[in-house]
Amino acid sequence: MCKHCDYTQMLEVRGVDPTPLREEVLRSVGEEQRPLSAAEIMAAVQDRMSINKVTLYRILDLLVDKGLVKRLSAGDRAFRYGMGETRHHPDHPHFVCSACGIMECLGPHLLPSNVKELQSKGDRVIKNVELRFEGICESCLQNE
Ligand SMILES: [Zn+2]
Ligand SMILES: [Zn+2]
Ligand SMILES: [Zn+2]
Repeated sequence: MCKHCDYTQMLEVRGVDPTPLREEVLRSVGEEQRPLSAAEIMAAVQDRMSINKVTLYRILDLLVDKGLVKRLSAGDRAFRYGMGETRHHPDHPHFVCSACGIMECLGPHLLPSNVKELQSKGDRVIKNVELRFEGICESCLQNE
């Protein structure tokens, strides 16, 4: 759970009207230690409010568009959603287990330092860095 994030304020700062449902979607993403699939977010929101798939995807698109949420490719068909880069949530790489599909957040220090170098050189602008390690997670290794 994240104690640092004020979800209402985060929405307002990015110019998004903080409706209860938007706040609930952002909170569901923010309070997890790992990025979630849309189906998992849907289940988390439905614990507290009713939401349909179309509305969920519309809200996720908006939050991604505003940089509050990051859409992450896991190498399978379902995107995962994690918190966008903020002061409390620095950009970081992810690990995906190719056996169970779980995605885990890795420490920001594991981002290669030459990413920063690339950003500061030349006239290109890097807007998004997505670094993904794939392998077998701890619990899958134990279950083998
Ligand atoms: Zn937070
Ligand atoms: Zn696994
Ligand atoms: Zn993450």
